[in-house]
Amino acid sequence: MLIIGGGVAGLSAAAMLSPHVSVTVLEGEESIGYHSSGRSATMLHYALGNSLVRALTLTSRRFFDEPPEGFSDVPLGRQMPVFVHARVDELAALDELDRAIAAFAKVERVGEDEILQVCPVLKVGEGGAVSAIVDRNGLRLDPHALLQGYAKTLRTSGGQLVTSARAAQIKRSGGAWTVVSERGDSFSAPILVDAAGSWADKVAELAGVRPLGVEPKRRTIITFDAPEGSDLSSWPFAKTVGEELYFAPESGRLFASPMDEVASDPCDAQPDDYEVALAAHRVEERTTMKVRRIVHKWAGLRTFAPDRKPVAGFAPDADGFFWLAGQGGFGLQTSPMMGAAVASIIAGTPWPVEGVLPDELSPGRLLRQPA
Ligand SMILES: Cc1cc2nc3c(=O)[nH]c(=O)nc-3n(C[C@H](O)[C@H](O)[C@H](O)COP(=O)(O)OP(=O)(O)OC[C@H]3O[C@@H](n4cnc5c(N)ncnc54)[C@H](O)[C@@H]3O)c2cc1C
Repeated sequence: MLIIGGGVAGLSAAAMLSPHVSVTVLEGEESIGYHSSGRSATMLHYALGNSLVRALTLTSRRFFDEPPEGFSDVPLGRQMPVFVHARVDELAALDELDRAIAAFAKVERVGEDEILQVCPVLKVGEGGAVSAIVDRNGLRLDPHALLQGYAKTLRTSGGQLVTSARAAQIKRSGGAWTVVSERGDSFSAPILVDAAGSWADKVAELAGVRPLGVEPKRRTIITFDAPEGSDLSSWPFAKTVGEELYFAPESGRLFASPMDEVASDPCDAQPDDYEVALAAHRVEERTTMKVRRIVHKWAGLRTFAPDRKPVAGFAPDADGFFWLAGQGGFGLQTSPMMGAAVASIIAGTPWPVEGVLPDELSPGRLLRQPA
């Protein structure tokens, strides 16, 4: 089978499938993980997504804690507390999140004193945080180790990863899909997996398959110096309960995002000055820190299905065309189980996620309206 897309979606599926079927991954860029998969905040936590995403994340956690033998020489993640805080006017939202997360993570509810112990720079009291939930078992993922591990598994099983192979033409004939790359190389297989991230609909259109209406949304991250003398080793990933700000330690500095969701065409996303300034403004609004210098900035696309649930399943309108799309802001943390779900649907391996049904991931749910 052919997989278009060498991000975490395509590579996790390739790793899980390659022991069972012959797999070739085609990636348009020179290296894997160049787009969304290489630009994320790299967290595993339960404050994002919906119950489907949380269930996929919970089951994926085992893989990160105990990857298969030989998958990676380094750990796939390190523990980092996840801290979600609220002002008085946000308490109802915090209560709701607390209830939603309870089935998936052991969280503690803390008040102002403990807020300062966990995250000494947060503003507390009037106009600041008054309550927070803490998941001490959060995980900061290593996306490089994860992508390399998936790619290594693919190769070890005899699969192929071809970079600089952007699909330019896609045709179905004689029971097989044939993909011709921009360089003119041709690849054929009976099953084609569309794991092209923000380009998933574009790839479908090339293949003459009805698009799902996935929506790429840009998100921006800045890094800046922590206050002098700070010991960042125990600092958490701290986020507002609403979609306003998160920040966390990053290689001796801090990173922060204004949690922007700006509609975008699929592209090599670049940070926009407005969101960069907004990130700095929100850091200063919610914390006692000053952002004196932005050291680094980047942007990436988080691509959602219209119902914000991930998609894995055969297209109802095209033989052998398999959708693997809509990983939104949770594609790393759900990748082991999304990959395993693809292997189950295509190669008949056991269904991996208790409490989630294949139908919940099916693209058919998005195609019930007339085109
Ligand atoms: C700022 C930010 C923060 C995030 N934080 C988190 C987080 O904390 N935790 C988490 O789990 N997730 C997070 N995410 C989300 C996560 O990064 C994505 O869900 C995930 O990377 C999506 O993977 P993908 O493989 O679908 O997409 P991509 O990584 O974009 O891969 C798709 C690939 O398809 C290739 N492609 C496209 N068209 C073609 C073609 N025609 N031919 C060949 N190749 C093609 C592209 O070059 C690309 O490499 C974040 C994302 C962003 C941007």
